[in-house]
Amino acid sequence: MTSQQQKRRNVRRRIFYLKRAAALGTVILLTGILALLLLSCMADKSTEPAAQKTQAGQPRPANAAMPVSRGEAPAAPTVPTVQNVPDGWKQIDLSESALREGTLVLVNNQIAFDDSIPETVTVYDQKDGSYLVKDIYLSVTQETMDALNEWMDAFAAETGIRDVNIVAGWRSFQDQTGLYENAVSNRGQAYADAYIALPGHSEHHTGLAVDLDTYDVESGASGGFDGEEDYAWAVEHAWEFGFIQRYPEAKSEITGINFESWHFRYVGLPHAYVMRSENLCLEEYIDYLRGYPFSGRHLNVTCFDNNYEIYFCPKDQVVVPSSGDYRVSGNNVDGFIVVIELP
Ligand SMILES: [Zn+2]
Repeated sequence: MTSQQQKRRNVRRRIFYLKRAAALGTVILLTGILALLLLSCMADKSTEPAAQKTQAGQPRPANAAMPVSRGEAPAAPTVPTVQNVPDGWKQIDLSESALREGTLVLVNNQIAFDDSIPETVTVYDQKDGSYLVKDIYLSVTQETMDALNEWMDAFAAETGIRDVNIVAGWRSFQDQTGLYENAVSNRGQAYADAYIALPGHSEHHTGLAVDLDTYDVESGASGGFDGEEDYAWAVEHAWEFGFIQRYPEAKSEITGINFESWHFRYVGLPHAYVMRSENLCLEEYIDYLRGYPFSGRHLNVTCFDNNYEIYFCPKDQVVVPSSGDYRVSGNNVDGFIVVIELP
């Protein structure tokens, strides 16, 4: 082979290798672009604003369109602005005190109810004949009152029992102080700490809690309320009327209060239903709802043939539908829970 031939052969070999490298480069580049496209597609999906379907698979109402960016310059905001509020939704400004309003306010040994006084009505004035009340002053919120009537009416209709006595409802800070001090001096510090909340930390300050007892009209004796035998129906069906047995035995580590068979808390529907079906106490439920933020997947619940959409908004970033009915409750900690009843 001449040196000329050798050179040509070397050139041909170099061209062959260059072509192969170029082809390999193109394949790598194309794979990279494809991977990037796939990733951006997945990221879009994960930031969808709301669950787009109800549990029954119906499309969301027209007021829940995808977000669009709006051209106008924003006015100086008084609260942090929620980015890209979708069409059909609006941001609302709720005061700090609204955090302590609504049926989902959480009050326990760590979280105080501040010194708010809720609006209440007296049970004696509005109760039906299916149960009793300790005195003419005992009061609860209007929603609690209505649900209590329905619950006790259903219980009496089912069992014929009409001796349930409501012995506690809304309680002032002063009353709670007296109760705590009495418990310490009569039954000791350990009992008081296990059963009696410190002033400011009782659910009874909210007007959403009731204590049940039984009352023998003939003997005038109080029988307590253990929620067993004849009274088991009232406990079993409480959720249907929006009540929960607030301090279950299995949750006392979380609630910080020993089992109280007599203490019921009104949270309303569909919350009582979800708490029951998911086996969550109120502390756990409030946490659970943080997993359904407005910006993410919403919780869709069907209860008694009604469809609900539930989501959590951090305080100062509350977004609600711009039309139609919705309910908002503060959680007394860090945000609000919105419930929409779907058509
Ligand atoms: Zn109580």
